[in-house]
Amino acid sequence: MSGQEKRPVTAVSLDLSTQPVPLRCAHCGVTQEPQAQAICPECLGPLEPVYDPDRTLPSREEIASRAPSIWRYREWLPFTGAPVHSLDTGFTPLVDAPRLAALLGVARAWIKNDTVAHPTLSFKDRVVATAINAAVGLGCETIACASTGNLAISVAAQAARAGIPAWVLIPDDLEPAKILAAAVHGARVVRVRGTYDDVNRLCAQLADKFAWGIVNVNLRPYYGEGSKTVAFEIAEQLGWRLPAAVVAPMAGGSLLSKIHKGFGEAIAAGLVSGATPRLYGAQATGCAPIVRAFESGAEGITPVVPKTIARSLAIGAPADGPKALAAIRATGGSAAAVTDPELIQGIRTLASTTGVFGETAGGVTTAAALALAARGAFRPDDEVVLCITAHGLKTPDAVSVRDFDIPTVSSKLADVASLVRAA
Ligand SMILES: *Cc1c(COP(=O)(O)O)cnc(C)c1O
Ligand SMILES: [Zn+2]
Repeated sequence: MSGQEKRPVTAVSLDLSTQPVPLRCAHCGVTQEPQAQAICPECLGPLEPVYDPDRTLPSREEIASRAPSIWRYREWLPFTGAPVHSLDTGFTPLVDAPRLAALLGVARAWIKNDTVAHPTLSFKDRVVATAINAAVGLGCETIACASTGNLAISVAAQAARAGIPAWVLIPDDLEPAKILAAAVHGARVVRVRGTYDDVNRLCAQLADKFAWGIVNVNLRPYYGEGSKTVAFEIAEQLGWRLPAAVVAPMAGGSLLSKIHKGFGEAIAAGLVSGATPRLYGAQATGCAPIVRAFESGAEGITPVVPKTIARSLAIGAPADGPKALAAIRATGGSAAAVTDPELIQGIRTLASTTGVFGETAGGVTTAAALALAARGAFRPDDEVVLCITAHGLKTPDAVSVRDFDIPTVSSKLADVASLVRAA
Protein backbone atom coordinates (compact mmCIF):
# COMPACT_ATOMS: atom_id res chain seq x y z
CA MET A 1 0.00 0.00 0.00
CA SER A 2 2.92 2.29 0.64
CA GLY A 3 3.51 3.14 -3.01
CA GLN A 4 -0.01 4.28 -3.56
CA GLU A 5 -0.41 7.68 -5.25
CA LYS A 6 -1.59 10.62 -3.25
CA ARG A 7 -5.26 11.14 -2.72
CA PRO A 8 -6.77 13.82 -0.52
CA VAL A 9 -6.08 13.07 3.12
CA THR A 10 -9.18 14.06 4.99
CA ALA A 11 -9.91 14.42 8.65
CA VAL A 12 -11.86 11.15 8.70
CA SER A 13 -10.16 9.26 11.48
CA LEU A 14 -9.43 5.56 11.35
CA ASP A 15 -9.41 5.46 15.10
CA LEU A 16 -11.88 7.90 16.56
CA SER A 17 -10.23 7.83 19.96
CA THR A 18 -7.35 10.00 18.67
CA GLN A 19 -8.31 13.13 16.81
CA PRO A 20 -5.57 15.62 15.89
CA VAL A 21 -6.59 19.23 16.51
CA PRO A 22 -7.10 21.76 13.66
CA LEU A 23 -4.24 23.90 12.37
CA ARG A 24 -3.85 27.66 12.05
CA CYS A 25 -1.36 29.67 9.99
CA ALA A 26 1.06 31.59 12.21
CA HIS A 27 1.26 34.36 9.58
CA CYS A 28 -2.18 34.95 8.08
CA GLY A 29 -4.28 33.24 10.77
CA VAL A 30 -6.35 31.10 8.41
CA THR A 31 -7.61 27.90 10.07
CA GLN A 32 -7.38 24.46 8.44
CA GLU A 33 -9.06 21.15 9.19
CA PRO A 34 -6.74 18.60 10.87
CA GLN A 35 -4.52 17.30 8.08
CA ALA A 36 -1.01 16.22 7.11
CA GLN A 37 0.11 19.67 6.05
CA ALA A 38 2.74 21.99 7.53
CA ILE A 39 2.53 24.97 5.18
CA CYS A 40 -0.38 27.39 4.77
CA PRO A 41 -1.95 26.98 1.32
CA GLU A 42 -2.82 30.71 1.33
CA CYS A 43 0.49 32.34 2.25
CA LEU A 44 3.04 29.51 2.77
CA GLY A 45 3.37 30.43 6.46
CA PRO A 46 3.89 27.67 9.06
CA LEU A 47 0.77 25.89 10.33
CA GLU A 48 0.43 25.40 14.08
CA PRO A 49 -1.99 23.30 16.13
CA VAL A 50 -4.98 25.12 17.60
CA TYR A 51 -5.93 24.29 21.18
CA ASP A 52 -9.36 24.92 22.59
CA PRO A 53 -8.78 27.83 24.99
CA ASP A 54 -11.71 26.62 27.10
CA ARG A 55 -10.43 23.09 27.61
CA THR A 56 -10.09 21.97 31.22
CA LEU A 57 -6.47 21.95 32.34
CA PRO A 58 -5.24 19.54 35.01
CA SER A 59 -3.90 20.57 38.41
CA ARG A 60 -0.46 19.53 39.69
CA GLU A 61 -2.16 16.77 41.70
CA GLU A 62 -4.07 15.50 38.68
CA ILE A 63 -0.84 15.39 36.63
CA ALA A 64 0.97 13.60 39.48
CA SER A 65 -1.71 10.88 39.50
CA ARG A 66 -1.07 10.00 35.83
CA ALA A 67 1.40 7.52 34.36
CA PRO A 68 5.01 8.75 33.95
CA SER A 69 5.00 9.56 30.24
CA ILE A 70 4.63 12.55 27.94
CA TRP A 71 0.86 11.94 28.01
CA ARG A 72 0.57 13.15 31.60
CA TYR A 73 0.63 16.60 29.90
CA ARG A 74 -1.86 15.53 27.22
CA GLU A 75 -3.91 18.74 27.44
CA TRP A 76 -0.89 20.49 25.89
CA LEU A 77 -0.44 17.87 23.15
CA PRO A 78 -2.34 18.37 19.87
CA PHE A 79 -5.12 15.80 20.19
CA THR A 80 -8.59 15.45 21.52
CA GLY A 81 -9.43 12.05 22.96
CA ALA A 82 -6.99 9.44 24.16
CA PRO A 83 -3.74 8.67 22.31
CA VAL A 84 -3.46 5.06 21.14
CA HIS A 85 0.22 4.55 20.29
CA SER A 86 3.54 4.98 22.11
CA LEU A 87 1.93 5.54 25.49
CA ASP A 88 5.09 4.90 27.48
CA THR A 89 7.47 7.47 26.00
CA GLY A 90 8.79 10.30 28.15
CA PHE A 91 9.36 11.23 31.78
CA THR A 92 13.09 10.56 31.62
CA PRO A 93 15.20 11.15 34.76
CA LEU A 94 16.38 14.59 35.83
CA VAL A 95 19.79 13.69 37.22
CA ASP A 96 21.43 15.84 39.89
CA ALA A 97 25.00 16.60 38.73
CA PRO A 98 26.98 18.27 41.56
CA ARG A 99 30.40 17.59 40.03
CA LEU A 100 29.36 19.18 36.76
CA ALA A 101 27.84 22.11 38.70
CA ALA A 102 31.26 22.67 40.27
CA LEU A 103 32.90 22.73 36.83
CA LEU A 104 30.29 25.21 35.61
CA GLY A 105 30.63 27.36 38.73
CA VAL A 106 26.88 27.26 39.47
CA ALA A 107 24.79 26.36 42.50
CA ARG A 108 23.15 23.26 40.99
CA ALA A 109 23.19 21.45 37.69
CA TRP A 110 20.99 18.65 36.38
CA ILE A 111 21.06 16.43 33.32
CA LYS A 112 17.71 15.99 31.57
CA ASN A 113 18.63 12.46 30.66
CA ASP A 114 17.03 11.57 27.34
CA THR A 115 19.84 9.06 26.74
CA VAL A 116 17.41 6.63 28.36
CA ALA A 117 14.31 7.72 26.42
CA HIS A 118 11.92 4.92 25.54
CA PRO A 119 12.03 3.15 23.13
CA THR A 120 15.17 4.30 21.24
CA LEU A 121 17.39 6.27 23.63
CA SER A 122 16.93 9.74 22.16
CA PHE A 123 14.61 12.69 22.67
CA LYS A 124 13.21 11.99 19.18
CA ASP A 125 11.01 9.38 20.88
CA ARG A 126 8.90 12.29 22.17
CA VAL A 127 8.24 13.88 18.80
CA VAL A 128 7.61 10.55 17.09
CA ALA A 129 5.14 9.57 19.83
CA THR A 130 3.02 12.60 18.94
CA ALA A 131 3.57 12.29 15.17
CA ILE A 132 2.54 8.64 15.05
CA ASN A 133 -0.75 9.38 16.78
CA ALA A 134 -1.34 12.21 14.29
CA ALA A 135 -0.53 9.86 11.39
CA VAL A 136 -3.02 7.28 12.61
CA GLY A 137 -5.67 9.85 13.44
CA LEU A 138 -5.35 11.33 9.95
CA GLY A 139 -5.51 7.95 8.25
CA CYS A 140 -1.95 7.92 6.85
CA GLU A 141 -1.15 4.33 5.89
CA THR A 142 2.62 4.83 5.77
CA ILE A 143 4.85 6.85 8.05
CA ALA A 144 8.15 8.34 6.90
CA CYS A 145 10.87 10.82 7.83
CA ALA A 146 13.96 12.68 6.68
CA SER A 147 16.52 12.04 9.36
CA THR A 148 19.99 12.84 10.65
CA GLY A 149 19.83 9.43 12.40
CA ASN A 150 17.95 9.41 15.67
CA LEU A 151 14.63 10.27 14.08
CA ALA A 152 15.03 7.35 11.67
CA ILE A 153 15.54 4.94 14.55
CA SER A 154 12.59 6.25 16.52
CA VAL A 155 10.21 6.23 13.54
CA ALA A 156 11.31 2.69 12.67
CA ALA A 157 10.78 1.40 16.21
CA GLN A 158 7.48 3.11 16.96
CA ALA A 159 6.04 2.22 13.54
CA ALA A 160 7.06 -1.42 14.05
CA ARG A 161 5.23 -1.58 17.35
CA ALA A 162 2.14 0.10 15.90
CA GLY A 163 2.21 -2.13 12.80
CA ILE A 164 2.52 0.75 10.34
CA PRO A 165 4.88 0.54 7.32
CA ALA A 166 7.78 2.99 7.64
CA TRP A 167 10.14 4.58 5.11
CA VAL A 168 13.13 6.41 6.50
CA LEU A 169 15.41 8.51 4.34
CA ILE A 170 18.89 9.37 5.58
CA PRO A 171 22.13 10.87 4.23
CA ASP A 172 24.16 7.96 2.78
CA ASP A 173 27.21 8.52 5.00
CA LEU A 174 25.43 8.30 8.37
CA GLU A 175 27.02 6.41 11.28
CA PRO A 176 26.66 2.61 10.77
CA ALA A 177 25.24 2.10 14.29
CA LYS A 178 22.35 4.43 13.45
CA ILE A 179 21.61 2.82 10.08
CA LEU A 180 21.56 -0.60 11.73
CA ALA A 181 19.28 0.52 14.55
CA ALA A 182 16.74 1.83 12.01
CA ALA A 183 16.91 -1.21 9.72
CA VAL A 184 16.59 -3.80 12.48
CA HIS A 185 13.03 -2.68 13.18
CA GLY A 186 11.98 -3.60 9.66
CA ALA A 187 11.69 -0.07 8.27
CA ARG A 188 12.55 0.57 4.63
CA VAL A 189 15.80 2.49 5.03
CA VAL A 190 16.93 4.52 2.02
CA ARG A 191 20.37 6.13 1.92
CA VAL A 192 20.31 9.29 -0.17
CA ARG A 193 23.51 10.63 -1.68
CA GLY A 194 23.63 14.12 -0.22
CA THR A 195 23.28 16.09 3.00
CA TYR A 196 20.33 16.07 5.39
CA ASP A 197 19.08 19.23 3.67
CA ASP A 198 18.95 17.33 0.33
CA VAL A 199 17.07 14.48 2.03
CA ASN A 200 14.62 16.94 3.54
CA ARG A 201 13.91 18.58 0.16
CA LEU A 202 13.31 15.14 -1.33
CA CYS A 203 10.86 14.28 1.43
CA ALA A 204 8.88 17.45 0.77
CA GLN A 205 8.44 16.21 -2.82
CA LEU A 206 7.50 12.71 -1.61
CA ALA A 207 4.85 14.25 0.64
CA ASP A 208 3.24 15.77 -2.47
CA LYS A 209 3.35 12.49 -4.38
CA PHE A 210 2.30 9.84 -1.84
CA ALA A 211 -0.28 9.79 0.94
CA TRP A 212 2.46 9.42 3.53
CA GLY A 213 2.65 10.99 6.94
CA ILE A 214 6.20 12.34 6.97
CA VAL A 215 6.77 13.11 10.61
CA ASN A 216 9.05 16.14 10.27
CA VAL A 217 7.61 17.38 6.96
CA ASN A 218 3.82 17.30 6.57
CA LEU A 219 3.17 16.15 10.17
CA ARG A 220 5.56 18.77 11.56
CA PRO A 221 2.86 20.84 13.33
CA TYR A 222 1.91 17.78 15.42
CA TYR A 223 5.44 16.36 15.68
CA GLY A 224 7.12 19.45 17.16
CA GLU A 225 4.67 19.70 20.07
CA GLY A 226 6.14 16.51 21.60
CA SER A 227 9.30 18.44 22.50
CA LYS A 228 7.36 20.75 24.84
CA THR A 229 7.17 17.87 27.31
CA VAL A 230 10.87 18.38 28.11
CA ALA A 231 9.96 21.73 29.69
CA PHE A 232 6.95 20.36 31.58
CA GLU A 233 9.03 17.46 32.93
CA ILE A 234 11.88 19.72 34.07
CA ALA A 235 9.43 21.98 35.92
CA GLU A 236 7.58 19.08 37.54
CA GLN A 237 10.73 17.13 38.45
CA LEU A 238 12.13 20.21 40.22
CA GLY A 239 8.97 20.24 42.34
CA TRP A 240 7.17 22.73 40.07
CA ARG A 241 10.03 25.21 40.06
CA LEU A 242 11.90 26.67 37.13
CA PRO A 243 15.68 26.50 36.73
CA ALA A 244 17.55 29.73 35.94
CA ALA A 245 18.93 28.37 32.68
CA VAL A 246 18.56 25.48 30.24
CA VAL A 247 21.21 24.47 27.70
CA ALA A 248 19.95 22.50 24.68
CA PRO A 249 21.47 21.30 21.41
CA MET A 250 20.10 22.70 18.16
CA ALA A 251 19.75 21.01 14.78
CA GLY A 252 16.59 22.33 13.12
CA GLY A 253 15.97 24.46 16.22
CA SER A 254 12.67 22.76 17.05
CA LEU A 255 13.62 21.34 20.47
CA LEU A 256 14.87 24.64 21.85
CA SER A 257 11.92 26.67 20.56
CA LYS A 258 9.43 24.09 21.89
CA ILE A 259 11.12 24.08 25.31
CA HIS A 260 10.44 27.83 25.30
CA LYS A 261 6.81 27.26 24.35
CA GLY A 262 6.43 24.54 27.00
CA PHE A 263 7.76 26.71 29.82
CA GLY A 264 5.46 29.52 28.67
CA GLU A 265 2.44 27.22 28.74
CA ALA A 266 3.31 25.79 32.17
CA ILE A 267 3.58 29.35 33.54
CA ALA A 268 0.36 30.44 31.81
CA ALA A 269 -1.47 27.45 33.32
CA GLY A 270 -0.31 28.44 36.82
CA LEU A 271 1.55 25.15 37.30
CA VAL A 272 4.72 27.06 38.01
CA SER A 273 5.66 30.71 38.56
CA GLY A 274 8.68 32.89 37.94
CA ALA A 275 10.70 33.97 34.93
CA THR A 276 11.07 31.73 31.90
CA PRO A 277 14.53 30.12 32.15
CA ARG A 278 17.27 31.69 30.05
CA LEU A 279 17.72 29.41 27.05
CA TYR A 280 21.16 28.61 25.66
CA GLY A 281 21.59 26.91 22.29
CA ALA A 282 24.52 24.63 21.41
CA GLN A 283 25.85 23.68 17.98
CA ALA A 284 29.07 22.32 16.48
CA THR A 285 31.27 24.90 14.75
CA GLY A 286 31.09 22.78 11.58
CA CYS A 287 27.34 23.43 11.44
CA ALA A 288 26.40 26.48 13.48
CA PRO A 289 23.99 28.59 11.41
CA ILE A 290 21.80 29.48 14.40
CA VAL A 291 24.75 30.36 16.65
CA ARG A 292 26.23 32.54 13.88
CA ALA A 293 22.94 34.38 13.41
CA PHE A 294 22.74 34.98 17.15
CA GLU A 295 26.30 36.31 17.28
CA SER A 296 25.85 38.64 14.32
CA GLY A 297 22.47 39.92 15.50
CA ALA A 298 20.86 38.77 12.25
CA GLU A 299 17.11 38.19 11.92
CA GLY A 300 17.41 35.42 9.34
CA ILE A 301 19.57 32.33 9.15
CA THR A 302 22.27 31.94 6.49
CA PRO A 303 22.39 28.23 5.53
CA VAL A 304 25.69 26.35 5.70
CA VAL A 305 27.03 23.06 4.36
CA PRO A 306 27.58 20.90 7.48
CA LYS A 307 30.99 19.49 8.29
CA THR A 308 31.12 17.97 11.77
CA ILE A 309 31.09 14.58 13.46
CA ALA A 310 27.97 15.74 15.34
CA ARG A 311 25.79 14.20 12.64
CA SER A 312 22.59 14.38 14.65
CA LEU A 313 22.90 18.18 14.66
CA ALA A 314 24.07 18.54 11.04
CA ILE A 315 21.20 20.55 9.59
CA GLY A 316 22.56 23.39 7.46
CA ALA A 317 19.18 25.04 6.78
CA PRO A 318 17.33 24.84 10.11
CA ALA A 319 13.55 25.02 9.65
CA ASP A 320 12.94 26.41 13.15
CA GLY A 321 16.16 28.44 13.32
CA PRO A 322 14.33 31.78 13.47
CA LYS A 323 12.08 30.52 16.29
CA ALA A 324 15.07 29.20 18.25
CA LEU A 325 16.84 32.54 17.79
CA ALA A 326 13.76 34.40 19.02
CA ALA A 327 13.50 32.11 22.08
CA ILE A 328 17.16 32.65 22.98
CA ARG A 329 16.83 36.42 22.62
CA ALA A 330 13.48 36.67 24.42
CA THR A 331 14.78 34.83 27.49
CA GLY A 332 18.12 36.65 27.75
CA GLY A 333 20.07 33.50 26.88
CA SER A 334 22.90 33.01 24.44
CA ALA A 335 24.43 30.46 22.09
CA ALA A 336 27.78 28.77 21.62
CA ALA A 337 29.47 26.58 19.05
CA VAL A 338 32.20 24.05 19.86
CA THR A 339 34.76 22.26 17.69
CA ASP A 340 34.79 18.51 17.13
CA PRO A 341 37.75 17.99 19.53
CA GLU A 342 35.89 20.05 22.14
CA LEU A 343 32.71 18.02 21.74
CA ILE A 344 34.66 14.75 22.11
CA GLN A 345 36.14 16.12 25.34
CA GLY A 346 32.60 17.15 26.28
CA ILE A 347 31.40 13.54 25.97
CA ARG A 348 34.21 12.43 28.29
CA THR A 349 33.65 15.22 30.81
CA LEU A 350 29.93 14.50 30.93
CA ALA A 351 30.40 10.76 31.39
CA SER A 352 33.19 11.06 33.94
CA THR A 353 31.42 13.66 36.12
CA THR A 354 27.76 12.59 35.86
CA GLY A 355 27.67 8.92 34.82
CA VAL A 356 25.68 9.83 31.72
CA PHE A 357 27.15 8.73 28.37
CA GLY A 358 25.84 11.00 25.64
CA GLU A 359 26.32 10.84 21.91
CA THR A 360 28.00 13.64 19.93
CA ALA A 361 25.08 16.02 20.56
CA GLY A 362 25.57 15.49 24.31
CA GLY A 363 29.24 16.34 23.88
CA VAL A 364 28.23 19.53 22.05
CA THR A 365 25.82 20.51 24.83
CA THR A 366 28.33 19.84 27.62
CA ALA A 367 31.24 21.57 25.87
CA ALA A 368 29.01 24.54 24.97
CA ALA A 369 27.83 24.83 28.59
CA LEU A 370 31.46 24.90 29.75
CA ALA A 371 32.33 27.50 27.11
CA LEU A 372 29.35 29.64 28.13
CA ALA A 373 30.38 29.33 31.79
CA ALA A 374 33.93 30.41 30.90
CA ARG A 375 32.59 33.57 29.32
CA GLY A 376 30.45 34.39 32.35
CA ALA A 377 27.00 33.39 31.10
CA PHE A 378 26.04 31.82 34.43
CA ARG A 379 25.92 33.33 37.92
CA PRO A 380 27.16 31.43 41.01
CA ASP A 381 23.58 31.09 42.31
CA ASP A 382 22.20 29.79 39.00
CA GLU A 383 20.48 26.42 38.69
CA VAL A 384 21.20 25.00 35.24
CA VAL A 385 19.71 22.07 33.30
CA LEU A 386 21.60 20.45 30.41
CA CYS A 387 19.47 18.56 27.90
CA ILE A 388 21.43 15.45 26.94
CA THR A 389 19.43 14.17 24.02
CA ALA A 390 20.76 10.76 22.93
CA HIS A 391 22.87 7.82 24.14
CA GLY A 392 26.61 7.55 23.57
CA LEU A 393 26.45 4.02 22.18
CA LYS A 394 24.77 5.49 19.09
CA THR A 395 28.06 7.14 18.12
CA PRO A 396 30.66 4.73 19.52
CA ASP A 397 33.33 5.91 17.10
CA ALA A 398 33.31 9.47 18.43
CA VAL A 399 35.23 8.34 21.50
CA SER A 400 37.78 5.70 20.61
CA VAL A 401 39.02 3.01 22.99
CA ARG A 402 42.45 4.00 21.72
CA ASP A 403 42.01 7.30 23.59
CA PHE A 404 42.12 5.46 26.91
CA ASP A 405 44.87 3.62 28.75
CA ILE A 406 43.34 0.13 29.00
CA PRO A 407 46.03 -2.42 29.89
CA THR A 408 45.71 -6.13 29.19
CA VAL A 409 47.14 -8.40 31.91
CA SER A 410 47.38 -12.08 32.78
CA SER A 411 44.95 -13.56 35.29
CA LYS A 412 47.69 -13.53 37.96
CA LEU A 413 47.04 -11.36 41.03
CA ALA A 414 50.58 -9.97 40.92
CA ASP A 415 49.98 -8.38 37.51
CA VAL A 416 46.95 -6.43 38.64
CA ALA A 417 48.49 -5.66 42.03
CA SER A 418 51.44 -3.96 40.36
CA LEU A 419 49.04 -1.90 38.24
CA VAL A 420 47.18 -0.85 41.37
CA ARG A 421 50.43 0.13 43.10
CA ALA A 422 51.53 2.13 40.07
CA ALA A 423 48.20 4.00 39.86
C1 LIG B 1 17.42 15.90 16.36
C2 LIG B 1 18.33 16.04 17.52
C3 LIG B 1 18.50 17.25 18.23
C4 LIG B 1 17.94 18.60 17.85
O1 LIG B 1 16.81 18.63 17.18
P1 LIG B 1 16.04 19.90 16.62
O2 LIG B 1 14.73 19.83 17.29
O3 LIG B 1 15.98 19.66 15.15
O4 LIG B 1 16.81 21.14 16.94
C5 LIG B 1 19.29 17.22 19.37
N1 LIG B 1 19.90 16.11 19.78
C6 LIG B 1 19.77 14.94 19.13
C7 LIG B 1 20.50 13.76 19.64
C8 LIG B 1 18.98 14.85 17.99
O5 LIG B 1 18.87 13.68 17.37
ZN1 LIG C 1 -1.18 31.72 5.93
